[in-house]
Amino acid sequence: MKQVTILGATGSIGLSTLDVISRHTEQFGVFALTANSQVERLYQQCLQYRPRYAVMADEDSAESLRLKLKSEADEITVLAGLDGLIDVAAHPDVDHVMAAIVGAAGLQPTLAAARAGKRVLLANKEALVMSGKLFMDAVKQHHAELLPIDSEHNAIFQCLPGKFAGGLKQLGVRHILLTGSGGPFRQTPLARLHKVTPEQAIAHPNWEMGRKISVDSATMMNKGLELIEACWLFDTSPDFIQIVVHPQSVVHSLVEYVDGSVLAQLGQPDMRTPIAHALAWPQRMESGVESLNLFDVAQFDFEQPDYKRFPCLKLAEQAARHGGTAPTILNAANEVAVQAFLDNDLAFTGIPYIVESVLSTMDGRDASSLDVVLEDDQRSRERARQLIYQSDARVE
Ligand code: NAD
Ligand code: MG
Repeated sequence: MKQVTILGATGSIGLSTLDVISRHTEQFGVFALTANSQVERLYQQCLQYRPRYAVMADEDSAESLRLKLKSEADEITVLAGLDGLIDVAAHPDVDHVMAAIVGAAGLQPTLAAARAGKRVLLANKEALVMSGKLFMDAVKQHHAELLPIDSEHNAIFQCLPGKFAGGLKQLGVRHILLTGSGGPFRQTPLARLHKVTPEQAIAHPNWEMGRKISVDSATMMNKGLELIEACWLFDTSPDFIQIVVHPQSVVHSLVEYVDGSVLAQLGQPDMRTPIAHALAWPQRMESGVESLNLFDVAQFDFEQPDYKRFPCLKLAEQAARHGGTAPTILNAANEVAVQAFLDNDLAFTGIPYIVESVLSTMDGRDASSLDVVLEDDQRSRERARQLIYQSDARVE
């Protein structure tokens, strides 16, 4: 029986993970569930899944949860804050850690899981983007097992030989084709983009996801972050990766080999597939996802990405090539800009503007320690906030 900690249990990936686990209760036990501020939702999950630990981001929420659980599930220990998250990610009784907190907040607990040598199921791409080398070094040093949950990276992983070590070239890979839907504004006239609303941006045509990643999909910063994520996961460079716009979101990514073979992984746009794959790997198990009906899909389209429409793609590519803390700075500025857009304080087109401005005024550094990474993350956030709340990009 594998014991699983779910960081970010109340989010979209957290819910899908619980759905998959509840189909295999003989194989997986829920060790810990964590949430930011959703006390009621975590309370319900605690009653249903009876974890050993529950963790809330702050002490007040933890206290509310403790009070609610007192009469019904007194045996569940409720912890709070970063220390609590790190405790349940690195606990000796835990086997698998689903890293599904959104954004930079997930970095330290995810890193703690890697340092404790766990199987890390990585949904939280921002953690890897902001600390790439540090994170991958920790995985190697502590013999953690890093399995990608992001559907594209999970697809690429599935198209590579079982245990791959060494570079992709050694495996005979010619290049990776990273697919993305193009989001809800793929065909919106460019002149209208500055007026789109948060509601329109989070209405993704194919996937149901959290608000932040939905906005990232609309700007295609998500694909930019995924490019950086792929470089770290598969030990490669942006030159080796072609981004392909594929509006149907059925081909989740492809790997081309030197003999001309192109392998792809296909499936419904449902995150339970990569979640079940990574939980069961190297075996397979039921995920609850329906068969893919190719006759219903009928047609696949593939397009070149339009960099004028999606300037975030170029910015992420540049940050990837620059290396060091450039991706950390990119990620932090983007998180602040996306939040400002969701709060109606910034136009949609202000997102790339802010990210580019922050990147052009901050020098990246060698991302050699966690302190440097966290410091540049903070500096970038402050710079982005200054720009947003003092610039013309602000929506009045
Ligand atoms: P979500 O917003 O639905 O859920 C986020 C979870 O993180 C929630 O449980 C929330 O309580 C928790 N959280 C948020 N801020 C926190 C903080 N400061 N401290 C502690 N916990 C905090 O997001 P999601 O869509 O589930 O995405 C989670 C991660 O998975 C993201 O990094 C995203 O990029 C990645 N991902 C998601 C999908 C998807 O289909 N949803 C696909 C691929 C990758
Ligand atoms: Mg993805």
